[in-house]
Parts: sequence; C-alpha cells; structure tokens
Amino acid sequence: MGLVKDNTERILRQLPPGVQLVIAGKGRSVSELLEAIDGGAKIIGENYVRDAEVAHKEIGKKVQWHFIGHLQKNKVKKTVKIFDMIETVDSVDLAQEINKRCAAADKTIPILLEVNSAREPGKTGVMPDNVIAFAVEISCLPYIKLAGLMTMGALSDDIETTRHYFNVTRQLFEKLKQLRLSNSDIKYLSMGMSDSYQIALEEGANIVRIGTAIFGKIKSEV
Ligand SMILES: *Cc1c(COP(=O)(O)O)cnc(C)c1O
Repeated sequence: MGLVKDNTERILRQLPPGVQLVIAGKGRSVSELLEAIDGGAKIIGENYVRDAEVAHKEIGKKVQWHFIGHLQKNKVKKTVKIFDMIETVDSVDLAQEINKRCAAADKTIPILLEVNSAREPGKTGVMPDNVIAFAVEISCLPYIKLAGLMTMGALSDDIETTRHYFNVTRQLFEKLKQLRLSNSDIKYLSMGMSDSYQIALEEGANIVRIGTAIFGKIKSEV
C-alpha cells in the first residue's frame, strides 16, 4: 500500500525543473492512477481511447491527458474531445483529420510528431529523414499546433544504442525549433520510459513517460 504514491514522489524528486512526468496509464486501474495523482502526477498518458474515456469520467480535468498510443483516424473525434495533447502524430493524413475534427469543435490541440528514431521497420513514427518535410507540410493546418517531438527510441538493452537514438531525436528537435514554422511552437521533447528515462534526461528530454517504475509490472505480464 502506498507504493505507487511513493514511487511517483521519488521519480518527481529526481526530475530536473522544467521536466514533465507523464504517467503511462495502460493496464492500470483508476485507483492506481489516483494514487499516482496523490503522489503529485499531473499528466496521464493513455494508449487507448476507450480506456481514457473510462478514466477521464472518474478523474476529469484535475490532470492533463496525453494520447501516447497509435491513433486510428476513426478515433480522432473522441480523442480531441478528451485529450490535451496528442504525442503520436505520424502521418499527414492523421494530422489533417485531427485538424478537421478540431476545426469542427473550435479547439486547437498541441501535437508532437512521433519519430521512428531507430528506423525500425514495422514501427510507428516518421523516419528521421522525413521529419522536417513533414513538419513543414502540416504547418498550414491552423487547428493543430506542432509543439515538439516524441520517440520510443530503440528496442535495445544497450545504453549507448538507446542514447544514440535519443540524440538523433534531440538534434531534429533543435533543427525544428530554428525553422520557426507557422502554427508551431517547438518546446517539448518526449522521450524515455522506466528503463531509459535517466538517459533521455541526459539527452535533453523534457517529457518522460513512465509506467512500470511507478506501478510495477502490468499484472498480465507478471
Ligand atoms: C507503456 C508506455 C510507456 C511506459 O513504459 P514503461 O516501460 O512501463 O515505463 C511509455 N510510452 C509509451 C508510448 C507507452 O506505451
């Protein structure tokens, strides 16, 4: 008892000023999420719209909600209703759909581009070479505000490999800032999970997304 709260407080203490913690809510109950909120968590990251709707009904606007999963176009309307940020935009099609739904709801939503920094085939995210062109292309969409980049990094246990792909993403982030595109305000770099957030912080992350280190292993995975 109290472990989730303790873990949240401990991790928040470790984060440098200006770094935001997103607690990864997938597979967690509303009471677990509330315990993390009790420990100081202010942002919940959800991978599935349906889970988010359930949790959002109970928890509401006392926290911010970030979408961190793979977003399907047919879920965009519900997504823009609940979420404060979408971290995983990785196609122009999807960006246009978000723009359209936000226009209808008369709301602007901040988004991050998801980068497939390790160029892993079959993984989501924009390839590093295409990030700048992608950002330019969506900068004409007035109801989305490009706010930065997100990456999952590499599927690797090797620290230097992990660091390398975070660094690749950081460099794109700096480049993007300098472009000063319209409908953009580049300030967030979301990278690092339970096993990698220390490295991500060293490489300039200012959003970390953490599940296991706060809640323990998901029960079905134990
Ligand atoms: C699950 C998840 C996390 C958190 O992963 P942990 O290893 O449990 O900390 C972060 N980001 C995304 C996109 C996730 O799906």
